[in-house]
Amino acid sequence: MPACQNCGKEWSWGTTFRGLIRVSMAMKCPYCGERQYGTASSGRRMMVIGLIPIPLVFIIPYISGMTVWIALALAIVISVVLIIIMPFFLKLSNEQEPYW
Ligand SMILES: [Zn+2]
Repeated sequence: MPACQNCGKEWSWGTTFRGLIRVSMAMKCPYCGERQYGTASSGRRMMVIGLIPIPLVFIIPYISGMTVWIALALAIVISVVLIIIMPFFLKLSNEQEPYW
């Protein structure tokens, strides 16, 4: 789990997840109230992880002869797992970094 760069306290999964689903990249630390931002490198990593299910849906039915519907169900399961592990990949920073 990411730790606040201001007070050093580790965030819970719920806090991190709530921060992630917000549109703005600024997240408020529940312990010290300071604004925290996801680092550019962790943001890129999460973006790559989020894209993993897309090629899988096309590749798995092709190589295994699985129906598209099963592959789609599998992709949904993978997406749910990815959403659950996503907060583990977030790293916090006191400053907002440019993404690219
Ligand atoms: Zn803090």
